[in-house]
Amino acid sequence: MEKTQTQTQMQTHTQTVLSRVRVQSSGLPLVRSCLHTFAIVLAISLALFYQPTLIHADPEASAPTTQAAPARQHTEVLLAGTRYETQVLYQIANDVGPTVFVLGGMHGDEPAGIAAADIIATWSVDHGTLVIVPRAHQPAVEAQRRRDPDKPKGDGDLNRNFPAQHNDTPLGEPATAIWELVTRLQPDWIIDLHEGYGYRASGSKSVGNSLIYLSSPTINPIAEATVNAINATIHHDGRKFVHLRKSGGVKGGLVAAARKRFGTNAVGVETVSKFDPIEHRVGQQLVIVDAMLQQIGNLNRSVVSKALLEKLNQFEQAATPPTPVETH
Ligand SMILES: [Zn+2]
Repeated sequence: MEKTQTQTQMQTHTQTVLSRVRVQSSGLPLVRSCLHTFAIVLAISLALFYQPTLIHADPEASAPTTQAAPARQHTEVLLAGTRYETQVLYQIANDVGPTVFVLGGMHGDEPAGIAAADIIATWSVDHGTLVIVPRAHQPAVEAQRRRDPDKPKGDGDLNRNFPAQHNDTPLGEPATAIWELVTRLQPDWIIDLHEGYGYRASGSKSVGNSLIYLSSPTINPIAEATVNAINATIHHDGRKFVHLRKSGGVKGGLVAAARKRFGTNAVGVETVSKFDPIEHRVGQQLVIVDAMLQQIGNLNRSVVSKALLEKLNQFEQAATPPTPVETH
C-alpha cells in the first residue's frame, strides 16, 4: 500500500529521533542499596499519589478530535555498571516537534524534582520528544545530599561541573555523560528541576519559588505564561513565583552552560524545600512543566487535573505568608 506523505514524514521523524536516542540493551539498573530502594518506594508512592492527576478531569477535553497514535517510550542507561548509573527515559510523539530535556536530582537533597521527573516521564507528548533524567547525580540522590559525599567539596556538586567557559570540558563522569547527551540530542529546551530554601518573592536570598533563565524573546513569553499558571494557585504575594532572568543560572550549571555553548532555551525551576510539604512542591513542579510543555508545543492540552490544581489552591489558601525568620 502506498504511504501517505504524513506517514512518510512520521517515519522519517521517528528514524531521526531513534538514531539520536541510540537505545542501549544493557537493561534496567540494579537496585544497589537500601537507600536506593527507599528512593524508589518514595517515587512509586508519589506516582500513585498523583495518579489521578494523569487523568484529565474534563472528559470532553480529554477526547481528541483525531485519534493520534500514542507516543513511543524508550529507556537508555547512562554510565551503566558504575556508581553513577542512571536512566534516561524517552517519550517520542509520532508528530514532529521540539525536543525538551527535563532533569531532576542534580542535587540529591531536592526531592521534589526527582519525584516530579518520575511522573513527567509517564506523560505522552503530542508533538516532538521528551527526554527525562530523574536522577542526574545518583550518588548524591542515594545519600540525599546536595553533593557526592565521596568527593571533595569542590568536585561533588554536579551543577558546578558543566563548562563555565566556551573552551572548558565538563568535570567528572556524570557531568561528562550528561554533557555528551545534551551534545548528541541538541534539545530545543532544558528544564532543570531544583529546590531552594526560602521564598524569593518575600526577600529571601534563596531562589525558592522562581524560574531562572537568561532573558530572551523566545523564553520570556513562555516563562511568563508558566509563572502566571502556577501563581494562579498562590494567594500570598510573598509565596508567588518570580522570574530571575539576569544571570542565566549559576556558573558551571547545566542551564548556563547549555545556553552558552548551544544557545539552548534553558530554564531552572525552584520550589521551596524547607517549608512546603513534598506533595505540594511536586504538584507545583508538575503544573510548571505542564504549562511549559503546552507553551513550547509538546502538549496540545494540560495533562494535570483540576483536582491537583484544587489541592494546590486549598493548601495556598490555608498557608501563612512567609515571615522574615522563615525567609533566610
Ligand atoms: Zn539544586
